[in-house]
Amino acid sequence: MLKEIYKKIEKFDTIVIARHIGVDPDALASQMALRESIKKTFPQKKVYAVGTGSNKFNYFPKLDKVSEYQNALLIVVDTPDKKRIDVTDFDQFAYRIKIDHHPYIETFADIEYIDDKASSASEIIYCLIDNTPLVLDYDVAKIIFLGIVSDTNRFLVNSSYKTFEIVSKLVAEFNLDLPELYSNIFMRPLNEIRLQGYISENMKVSENGLGSIKISNDIINKFGVDVGSSGNLINNFNYIEEVIAWVIASEDVKNNVIKINIRSRGPIINHVAEKHNGGGHAYASGAKVSSIEEADSLIEELDEVCKLYLENKGDKNEN
Ligand code: AMP
Repeated sequence: MLKEIYKKIEKFDTIVIARHIGVDPDALASQMALRESIKKTFPQKKVYAVGTGSNKFNYFPKLDKVSEYQNALLIVVDTPDKKRIDVTDFDQFAYRIKIDHHPYIETFADIEYIDDKASSASEIIYCLIDNTPLVLDYDVAKIIFLGIVSDTNRFLVNSSYKTFEIVSKLVAEFNLDLPELYSNIFMRPLNEIRLQGYISENMKVSENGLGSIKISNDIINKFGVDVGSSGNLINNFNYIEEVIAWVIASEDVKNNVIKINIRSRGPIINHVAEKHNGGGHAYASGAKVSSIEEADSLIEELDEVCKLYLENKGDKNEN
């Protein structure tokens, strides 16, 4: 199917690459790596990466602003469902391709390449480039590396032998400057680290191993951070002995919602997120809820999932 995708890329003169709303480094990296690679392979083509950006990720190349896509190919990366695609006029495109590593939700494209075992969308873009005449150079390699490292949280999650093989090839072949690349992704303002301290101090841990905390707007202001900070910190609570799944609910007054970040190292959590205007991966999900009461229900449902997980694990250990 990767060859089929390449043929479509070869065919269209205008290509638009989109990804999900609520931009994150892997979504941007897969989008940018593909754009740069196509441009270098076919300099005469018009290739655009679209969607709302964030200053946080200004170490990536810039996004494009385009509004007219005559007879264009749309490639959507890192997005399982239509409603979360950050693109206007989806129906205007002549042909659509999905490239994703989330669990399947729905079909919205003419070709869908889904590998939910892949560490990241960036890993799939590497495979696309590696299996076709698309160009891989230093700039593209750097972007793919950033996407993979970020989505695997430095290879703590979702990393297979293939992930390590790819990363090792990129580092060896392009002599990547790792400290510089790591500082792009992992540098944090002190305020955010102080908020991390607050979360550690105040996270409630249930008897079923669910860690949970609600961050009010007052706390966000007190620490001088923004509502996205919880999302930046959520991965840092992995490997706490007493915690098998954890959730941070942050009040987002600007959008009048409560933003939910959930992670797990055992219980499957995305079904709970899906019930609350959210979704994601089995062990890394997010949602948006409309009230504290709904946040509390979601936390209770997650606790139940943890409880069942521990019970099943107990049964298996007994057998
Ligand atoms: P986050 O906690 O924001 O890093 O998100 C973890 C995963 O859940 C990512 O794969 C997101 O794409 C997905 N996700 C986050 N928020 C939502 C949402 N509101 N709806 C669907 N998926 C989401």
